[in-house]
Amino acid sequence: MSAHPTPHDRILADRARFVSGGVATPRLVVHHAEGARVTDIDGRTYLDFAGGIGCQNTGHRFAPVVEAVKAQADAYLHQCFMVGVYEPYVEVCRRLAALSPCHGDEQKSILVNSGAEANENAVKIARAATGRPAVVVFDNAFHGRTLLTMTMTAKVKPYRAGFGPFAPEVYRAPAPYPYRGVTSDDAIAGLKRLFKTEVDPATVACVVLEPVQGEGGFMEMPPDYPARLLEVCREHGILYVDDEVQTGVGRTGRMWAIEHYDGVEPDLLVSGKSIGGGLPLAAVTGPAELMDAVGPGGLGGTFGGNPLSCAAAVAVLDAVAEPSFLAEAEALGARMRARLEALAARRPEIGDVRGLGPMLAMELVERSPDRAKAIVDAAFDRGLLLLACGIDGNVIRLLAPLTITDEELDAGLRIVEEAVDATG
Ligand code: PLP
Repeated sequence: MSAHPTPHDRILADRARFVSGGVATPRLVVHHAEGARVTDIDGRTYLDFAGGIGCQNTGHRFAPVVEAVKAQADAYLHQCFMVGVYEPYVEVCRRLAALSPCHGDEQKSILVNSGAEANENAVKIARAATGRPAVVVFDNAFHGRTLLTMTMTAKVKPYRAGFGPFAPEVYRAPAPYPYRGVTSDDAIAGLKRLFKTEVDPATVACVVLEPVQGEGGFMEMPPDYPARLLEVCREHGILYVDDEVQTGVGRTGRMWAIEHYDGVEPDLLVSGKSIGGGLPLAAVTGPAELMDAVGPGGLGGTFGGNPLSCAAAVAVLDAVAEPSFLAEAEALGARMRARLEALAARRPEIGDVRGLGPMLAMELVERSPDRAKAIVDAAFDRGLLLLACGIDGNVIRLLAPLTITDEELDAGLRIVEEAVDATG
């Protein structure tokens, strides 16, 4: 560092000194953010196709969210829902009930702080409701970083290595991944095999599946797979938990990605990330007979569903539930896909363009993270925040805010194209 470090260098040096190295460090040091743009501490503005990892479907500082949070801050900040009931919590649950893709007339929810915590609670509810211990998860899954959810997650480095022993009674089945040769037939056959070789299906409480696997590489489930999985679940009395932490709240152009799959009504829905409009909130939603299977006090937590997050979530859910919002998100996805497919057509190193609606990614043919990392870096240098993902780290994912303007989208996609060309 020079004798006169920039604010950026000074904060990163302090970060290295005072913050655990266990948290990955990006190059960006944020000063402020608005809509689809983030400005760093040195005054440089970036287009944001990362959204704090999929948490800004409605964009940074979405005006109805900021307004609702300010009004809530003037009333009270924290109560703990187990000490004092407050309306914003109930209102989020009312909206989730109306929007739930799960079967059953009477839907209920519990609110928590993070996607991992929500998945933990979904498993607790499934176990309590079925009286069974086992959980089936899938290849390429990401469900969180707590002991149970890290066990459910399918990537050794950096998520599992060195952190064992893992939680018991978690079994893994193949997931469809057509680009790499795993079909729905293979995945169903693998699940049935698992039931012969590893775990008695009569002891399985639930399966947990992301309709588009997020961290694992944006693999959307093939059109037939969720219905076939549900059929196997119904045959064995297993609950279907739909992890929509990354795919939900409009990300795929529908409120929930599972709505792309006709007739698939899961048992429990797990939501998070964008639901809080930038504040920490996650939820488990499902029919009353499941959600009430746990006795009073069995679920909850000090901060779960805190009033600020709930006020924000009411504003987010009201905005995203508007048919025009979702229609625009679908249209955005179509524009993005056309551009990515055109790019892939002239760059042979891009093997697959995939995803649902505006939740899109490109997988590089080579199964190594180097090129994807170079593309992310080249985009950053040109003023665009991008993220890689995938078990091999070779997938570039686009999580543009759904409120992005046409000009911003165009400028961001142009940078993606330039970054791919510049690193080829
Ligand atoms: N489930 C999915 C599908 C996710 O993408 C994530 C986070 O990326 C999680 C769960 C964990 O959420 P959190 O980081 O809020 O604990």
